[in-house]
Amino acid sequence: MNISARIINIMVILMKLIRILKGAGIFGNYGTMGAASVTLIQDDKNILVDTGHFGNRDLLLKNLAENDLSTSDIDTVFLTHMNWDHCLNVDIFKNAEIIIGKDEYELGTLTGSNDGITEKFKEYLKNRNTTSVSGGEKISSNSSVIYTPGHTHGHISLLLKNGNSKIVFSGDAIPNRRALIRGVPDLIFYNLEKAKESIIKIKNIHPDIIFPGHDPPFNENGYIENDKVTIFMRNEDETDFSVSIGKDIASKPVIYNE
Ligand SMILES: [Zn+2]
Repeated sequence: MNISARIINIMVILMKLIRILKGAGIFGNYGTMGAASVTLIQDDKNILVDTGHFGNRDLLLKNLAENDLSTSDIDTVFLTHMNWDHCLNVDIFKNAEIIIGKDEYELGTLTGSNDGITEKFKEYLKNRNTTSVSGGEKISSNSSVIYTPGHTHGHISLLLKNGNSKIVFSGDAIPNRRALIRGVPDLIFYNLEKAKESIIKIKNIHPDIIFPGHDPPFNENGYIENDKVTIFMRNEDETDFSVSIGKDIASKPVIYNE
């Protein structure tokens, strides 16, 4: 058993991590699928890191049910940021406290642009049990907030500690392993320098595992899990055509707002 696998096993004994939705950067000539990771942490409370979007709502519900969980079992929804692919299922977790970065609550948007539709979403959050945080706050016995702006105004990550093991849920501050290596996320909606600083901040924690926004978990040494992405299309005779794909060729980071 390698060190990483052993760490995951230790985690399973004391607290549980479940990848409810697997994240990947799936882009094509038809646009992006926005497949963001949704991970459940079972510490002294059930914390869901991000919630995905409408397109994967059925799968989210199915995968929760397969783990004997209903939406009402989620105590805390931790939104790494307000981009649509990470937060649009927040409404189904009606009992949960919602955690969001302070600057994200004030300045973040669903689309990363001045879209004019985010205000409605913020209004919704105001009518929920929403807490804004700016780094250092405890979320459960073993987890706390890391402030990681840059990708968006108030992006936050979550640090989970178990003995000497450190796990970071990095959202799109580090969306994939390429971003860790390059030191820059794929997309920047707020500030390039802050985005770079946030990656350094996470690196300096020396996490044993990073659960990113759009990739399987990894660390500085490599991937801890490998996922296969399969895309289905339905033919006119009701049969399915499917294609399985590996990792995309690296693309240059895109800066929207500097
Ligand atoms: Zn994303």
